[in-house]
Amino acid sequence: MLKARRELFRKLSKEIRSKAVMAALESVPRERFVPPEVSHLAYQDKPLPIGADQTISQPFIVAIMTQALELQGNERVLEVGTGSGYQAAVLSLLVPRGHLITVERVPALKDKAKALLKALGYNNVTVELAGPTLGAPQHGPFDAIIVTAASPQIPDSLVSQLAVGGRLVIPVGTRENQELMRVLRTEEGISVRWLGPCRFVPLIGKEAFPER
Ligand code: SAH
Repeated sequence: MLKARRELFRKLSKEIRSKAVMAALESVPRERFVPPEVSHLAYQDKPLPIGADQTISQPFIVAIMTQALELQGNERVLEVGTGSGYQAAVLSLLVPRGHLITVERVPALKDKAKALLKALGYNNVTVELAGPTLGAPQHGPFDAIIVTAASPQIPDSLVSQLAVGGRLVIPVGTRENQELMRVLRTEEGISVRWLGPCRFVPLIGKEAFPER
């Protein structure tokens, strides 16, 4: 596993320019966020099953998305789709003077991630069960929002939870294939940049995909 770990970070550091993002990735024990039967695969650059038909994202995608948020350290950040809590742990290290709210719609995953993040000492994170409106409108506005599930569009309700100057990183497309988008909220509206193709499990909800 040590060898795989070294190899993974060597590969990532060729693509990821942010030293802070690389340091955060190297410090989070990914093997703790995956089920024991796949923990030997924790440092492969692959998504892995975490139960409830959901997956923990591939480290490269976590890195790209995190870097695109351009965090300085004091932001209020929202994650939609806590899953295992791994992405939340990485984000928490990048906002040591800020706060992360992460919401998850599957109660069992929420409970597990909440307990693990607490046990590992990620103290500037609040884990909540997702409500009927996407995101966490009662806690906004946010300086950065990351959505770790696939959305058919850029949801208006998430844009409205962004502060002016705030960044939203979200996979947009079909249930099967998406493009990673980085949305900047401006005084006038939004500006969008494409970051590349990706594959996520679907975001479920009113402005997203129906459950099936
Ligand atoms: N970021 C996670 C991976 C998330 S997988 C990690 O690091 O492990 C996507 C997650 O989004 C799943 O757990 C799924 O249940 C959740 N999800 C889907 N629709 C959602 C919604 N509307 N609100 C919150 N979470 C949602």
